[in-house]
Amino acid sequence: MKKIVWKLLLTAGLLFGALTFSAQKLYVGTNAEFEPFEYLKDGEITGFDMELIAEIGKIIGKEIEIKNIAFDGLLPALQTKKLDIVIAGMTATDERKKSVNFSDTYYLAKQLIVLNKEANTGIKTFDDLPGKTVGVVLGYTGDIAVSEIKGVNVIRYNGTGEAIMALKAKKVDAVVLDSEPAVKYAGQNPELITLETDAAKEEYAIAFRKEDTELLKAVNGALKTLQDNGTYRKLLEKYGLVKE
Ligand code: GLN
Repeated sequence: MKKIVWKLLLTAGLLFGALTFSAQKLYVGTNAEFEPFEYLKDGEITGFDMELIAEIGKIIGKEIEIKNIAFDGLLPALQTKKLDIVIAGMTATDERKKSVNFSDTYYLAKQLIVLNKEANTGIKTFDDLPGKTVGVVLGYTGDIAVSEIKGVNVIRYNGTGEAIMALKAKKVDAVVLDSEPAVKYAGQNPELITLETDAAKEEYAIAFRKEDTELLKAVNGALKTLQDNGTYRKLLEKYGLVKE
């Protein structure tokens, strides 16, 4: 009899241990086609967001496991608990706020227009886009913004790289993309240039399931610590994200 009790206790103990251990791990979703926030370098996912979440993990005592998936699959995967949080240069839009919670803002960006210098499109502002073929990435805020402009032939790509390739191949007249990746891609491809726009500022934030309010609080606390102790600023500098 005693033996059975011990065995039961042991099993319960192991089970509890396993559960608490798994709770120590945070499955973090991203889409590594968004330099300098998340991108592949020598097969490894790196970038500002990746280092930021690693620092946050240290502070809140969680092991971070990164999952690289398509951008428009990130929030569904969060909802179905395949992911615990999402950090992907994601804009905290009102629409997204209906289904998830966002951390405090950690970066401000906006949409830019990317053009191929070799094509004479005459595009100077968003007002010139009607009648043109414009590449965006499926589900990005750029997709949402361009889709709202009447008369644009919008071509949606699965990733930033694909959209940029299409622009290089002149399959589209322009690509509308978040400012930092737009500048990065243009810098890497001599035939591409970016156009400043008067687009509204977008706030990048980390996404959580609605019910995970404790985790959200802990992450906001860690963000504040990293801002206060200078780590956040150092990361901005490292990835060329300091604006002033
Ligand atoms: N900021 C844009 C959005 O939230 C693009 C994000 C991304 O591509 N990683 O839709």
